[in-house]
Amino acid sequence: MMESRFLDRALALAVENVAAGGGPFGALIVRNGEVVATGVNRVTRENDPTSHAEVNAIRAASQKLKTFKLEGCELYSSCEPCPMCMGAIYWAGVTTVYYGADSDEAAVAGFDDRYIYDELRKKPQQRTLRCIQIPSPSNSEPFDAWRLCDNKVIY
Ligand SMILES: [Zn+2]
Repeated sequence: MMESRFLDRALALAVENVAAGGGPFGALIVRNGEVVATGVNRVTRENDPTSHAEVNAIRAASQKLKTFKLEGCELYSSCEPCPMCMGAIYWAGVTTVYYGADSDEAAVAGFDDRYIYDELRKKPQQRTLRCIQIPSPSNSEPFDAWRLCDNKVIY
């Protein structure tokens, strides 16, 4: 079946990436049965904590397709996406996510993102990370500017 073939490709990318000095994660963006783009984890090589396989695959696919909406695209990941990648996947409008290992298996391997999911369920004031809103009459100015802008690209 096609889905398992694409997952196998994501898993192979992840294994190859370990040999290349990266993290054990790989992802693909697929549209109409064709691989549009791939991505691997480059966190340590690029000193970029956001350089996850899924985000890199989304960036590459968006550049290639010249769009910021990946509607009709599927994402295949060697592992269940972390909260950051899930956010990116929602923003990108990807239609379906297929993944191999789940977050429990990732945690056993030393990649535990479950605490982020736990944190996000809490109210900002209750999180370990201090999140403090600063009241200011200027807080709405960016949105006012957006509302009044005549030539904006809605997304
Ligand atoms: Zn991620």
